Amino acid sequence: MTETDDLPITAVRTTAIFCRPGCSGRPLVKNCVRYATTRDALAAGYRACLRCRPLEWVPAA
Ligand SMILES: [Zn+2]
Repeated sequence: MTETDDLPITAVRTTAIFCRPGCSGRPLVKNCVRYATTRDALAAGYRACLRCRPLEWVPAA
């Protein structure tokens, strides 16, 4: 396991969408990028998943 595997936000390069842990739409690991916060994912150009609504979810820091 690498350091980035511990980050809670999963962004998918192929769809440009990011998810919180446990979202039912599990993409291929090779297409995923991890971010510590939703802000980081937004800054990288990703949009929030409409299914798991990561912007309404506050991770326990
Ligand atoms: Zn999702």
